[in-house]
Amino acid sequence: MKELYVARESWFPAGLPRETADRRRAVACFKAVAVKHLAGGRNVERVIQGHKRFLAEVFPLRKSHFHLLSESQAPEYLFITCSDSRVVPDLILGTEPGDLFISRNAGNVIPVTAPEGDGVTATIEYAVEVLKVKHAILCGHSDCGALKAAVNAKALDALPKAKKWLRHVEAAFQHRQPLNPADGEGAELAALIRGNVVAQFKNLKAQPSVAWALKNGTLSVHGWYYDILSGRIERYDEKRHRFVPLLG
Ligand code: ZN
Repeated sequence: MKELYVARESWFPAGLPRETADRRRAVACFKAVAVKHLAGGRNVERVIQGHKRFLAEVFPLRKSHFHLLSESQAPEYLFITCSDSRVVPDLILGTEPGDLFISRNAGNVIPVTAPEGDGVTATIEYAVEVLKVKHAILCGHSDCGALKAAVNAKALDALPKAKKWLRHVEAAFQHRQPLNPADGEGAELAALIRGNVVAQFKNLKAQPSVAWALKNGTLSVHGWYYDILSGRIERYDEKRHRFVPLLG
């Protein structure tokens, strides 16, 4: 990456002010090129080789752990997040196989219970009723495509299934959070994404199994926002109606 960032500087004509729309567009364009570069030229062989390394180097060291997990699981956490490839729960939380029961979908949506049920609410029910997780964490993230699409609904015209699904994030507009200058140019979107965390957090609490467990004091619920650029997590402080750093 280093040489790519060096190359980025060469994009700018000498004397161009550091903050101009042209410069911002150039940086955005550069980032898109760099991300493509990082992902480019990889085919299925890459993941097959990854699995080969796992069997040769990782599995033998953790054999007893996997042996213990081979017939049952007892995760303490239900983790609900977006499908986004940049959100890697075990990496950002230091968790291990068997720790997190995970549900992912575009926009970390929790549909309001429908009579016919759905994958997300079924997963929540199983986690709470059967696995008896102690914590349910709803985690949104910066630069979320689901909320970008909610702002620009036209982009979904050719994706009827996604368009229908993302109606679930419309409640984000009612819970939009104050702008945070630290989010820079993405502040408007970040405020909406945090609003979506609040909306889905409320839906989570309204799930019958969750409401029951909360009433009995056997479950805690958490609403988080993960910032990809800084790696930091914020938590929703329900009493103060705002997001605060997870690490104080
Ligand atoms: Zn997302």
